[in-house]
Amino acid sequence: MENLTEMQPVVFRQLQNSFTSHRLAHAYLFEGDQGTGKEVMAQWFAQHLFCTNLQNGYPCGKCNNCVRIKEQEHPDVFEIKPEGQTIKVDQMRALQSELSKSGFETNKKVVIIQKAETMNVNSANSLLKFLEEPPQGLTLLLLTQALGKILPTIRSRCQVIHFQALSAEKLQQRLLADGITLKTAELLASLTNSYAKAVEFSNDEWFNEARQAIAQWFDYLSQQDLQAFIYVQKKLIKLFKEKDQQALAFEILRYYVKETRDALLLSDEKKALAYNRLLEEVLLSGQKLAANVAFQNVAEQLTLHAVKLHA
Ligand SMILES: [Zn+2]
Repeated sequence: MENLTEMQPVVFRQLQNSFTSHRLAHAYLFEGDQGTGKEVMAQWFAQHLFCTNLQNGYPCGKCNNCVRIKEQEHPDVFEIKPEGQTIKVDQMRALQSELSKSGFETNKKVVIIQKAETMNVNSANSLLKFLEEPPQGLTLLLLTQALGKILPTIRSRCQVIHFQALSAEKLQQRLLADGITLKTAELLASLTNSYAKAVEFSNDEWFNEARQAIAQWFDYLSQQDLQAFIYVQKKLIKLFKEKDQQALAFEILRYYVKETRDALLLSDEKKALAYNRLLEEVLLSGQKLAANVAFQNVAEQLTLHAVKLHA
């Protein structure tokens, strides 16, 4: 729970208020990036419904029900996730027959649908039946990273709960907890606020090569080494072919320049100022690229400016 209040304070308060005021919806759509706590929140929600020993209005996390929900062994909490690429209609039918069976422990049931955007049309239609005439005591929790792919007919029957992207600091903490080094975590958090994207980057061979190449280029630039110029032709234009890769090149460079500037601010103001001007050049380069100037031209111009700046 600590983790949830910290990760998603707004959502947490919103849902807790619904519980205390007994104004729960039949269906919720948890929408947000991977790693924003949707699964844990869904579990907490189910515990809230079944906990036999609420503590100051919050699920205890320790009673038999809370524990079984955490272990995904509670007979009245169902979870559906895609089999392969999609959630198939057979899965929905199996759920339907499970739900219609008697002999449940309580009259409450919770269905958690992971990656709800992967429902195909038939599955979605099957789900719509639940949403149109919700069975007594059933709560549906739909989780998605792609709100735009959820059919409007489904969306409009759910209360949509927005999970906020992580702050750079929190993203960094999560990456560190995953065993990613501090330097890499800092770089990734400067490039994206999406945990999923950060993890994707860190596992991507191209990204790791790109990052090393930019670090090398930055070294040449810092030393006013004209090899920086050759390096653009020899290495960078081969490595950064796609437009989005090229944009990323300047974003990675921006990280290195900024980091160096910040480190110098206290010790060497004059040098820090030079890096500050380089930082402006890097930002300008990104803009030129966006305005369709060729990557090689932008990179070479930046190199010339950098050498002059430090001269
Ligand atoms: Zn409990």
